[in-house]
Amino acid sequence: MDKNRKLIIAGNWKQNKTAAEAHDLVVGLKRELGTVKEVDIVVCPPFTALNEVSKLVLDSNIWLGAQNMSEHNTGAYTGEIGAGMLKEFSVRYVILGHSERREYQKESDALVSAKLQAAHGASLKPIVCVGETLTEREANQTEEVLARQLKGSLAGITGELMEETIVAYEPVWAIGTGKVATPDQAQAVHAFIRSKISELFNPSVAKHVRIQYGGSVKPGNTRELMSQPDVDGALVGGAALEVRSFSDIIKNSI
Ligand code: PEP
Repeated sequence: MDKNRKLIIAGNWKQNKTAAEAHDLVVGLKRELGTVKEVDIVVCPPFTALNEVSKLVLDSNIWLGAQNMSEHNTGAYTGEIGAGMLKEFSVRYVILGHSERREYQKESDALVSAKLQAAHGASLKPIVCVGETLTEREANQTEEVLARQLKGSLAGITGELMEETIVAYEPVWAIGTGKVATPDQAQAVHAFIRSKISELFNPSVAKHVRIQYGGSVKPGNTRELMSQPDVDGALVGGAALEVRSFSDIIKNSI
């Protein structure tokens, strides 16, 4: 955490929660977190719950995010959802290039970059995910993999738009596994990511970009992770599905 960058903590609900379940979760979060001003709080429900959640967060300190979007605005792309459609529900953030999409939908850095440009074209704030697998970490390839993902995924935007982009460092080996990166491991990689952003854009842009950590974040490990100088928030999966755990993560980050 650096006082010049506001913490941003986002819940990625993945393929969980019907609209009715989403309703209950958000009502609970509003009750628990209504007075929090220090953190940008974001919830990213599945597309089918956006309508319900958008009505609930309208008068709150909770921002709405989506988990993915098409690189196309409109057209013959069956099953896809474009940025304009997300804007209709007052979506402000969009997760791009999550490791599950990179793995199961074979999303490439080039595709993430196309989506990034489309998101900025619609004034959405993208959360671009990067991270190495366990095999890559064990082969000492973490920096090489991240450098490649950052160069490819962040291609095609100006420094000004980069400042509005959030990067989420999500080591694949820590996602949904209960194996969290140590605060030192997270800090080292976040500092590396910031140095790469400085090279790709410039030092001033790098100073402003918020870098989230994601991977088995829980109430009990939040405080130490968030106290690292280059960790500016969290992207939370499993622990974002319950009022108690997600609100405790937010409270423990302050
Ligand atoms: C995620 O998928 O973005 C994530 C960080 O999941 P979890 O918190 O469950 O590890």
